[in-house]
Amino acid sequence: MVEMNINRRQFLKLTGATAATLAIVELGFNEKEVYASSKELKIAKSTVTPTICCYCGVGCGILVHTKNNQVVYTEGDPDHPVNEGKLCSKGTTIRQLYTTEKRVLKPRYRAPGSSEWVEKDWEWMYERIAKRVKETRDASFIEKEGGIVVNKTERIASLGGAALDNEETYLLSKMMRGLGIVYLEHQARI
Ligand code: SF4
Repeated sequence: MVEMNINRRQFLKLTGATAATLAIVELGFNEKEVYASSKELKIAKSTVTPTICCYCGVGCGILVHTKNNQVVYTEGDPDHPVNEGKLCSKGTTIRQLYTTEKRVLKPRYRAPGSSEWVEKDWEWMYERIAKRVKETRDASFIEKEGGIVVNKTERIASLGGAALDNEETYLLSKMMRGLGIVYLEHQARI
């Protein structure tokens, strides 16, 4: 049996709070409705944007509520065929991706041989990636194999993510095949 050590003052507060709660319930106060309306107040007049949870390959649908460019609430998308409104513990806390101070807002680059990450702007990073992809592709491109035209490179691979939708995945695979990349995979299959 667990013993509770409370003094007289705490006892009076506790019994007073219990009596008040019972009185409210007896008066027909429905705490479920209050809980629901407090949530509605939070999301009243918010903009709702559907998105896909980025954490794993299940790809659950999430509704993001924003007000004044701030994320005020997130919840499972009831119309999404994968999760029908439900979310696991990671998906439920997805708003923290936006609110955490640890969020990385700019690309970071670590030069070969260096142990330091340096912040770069997006333009610098796009150019760098494009340059490296082109160099690698050109240096490894195979036009023919055993007399058969293959036009491929085996030194680059592509890994799609759960946050990509059908159209993005289609465009990504088109671009990769255009470059001659044959190792195409997706997070959901791994
Ligand atoms: S909510 Fe959970 S199960 Fe669904 S995609 Fe996110 S991490 Fe995966």
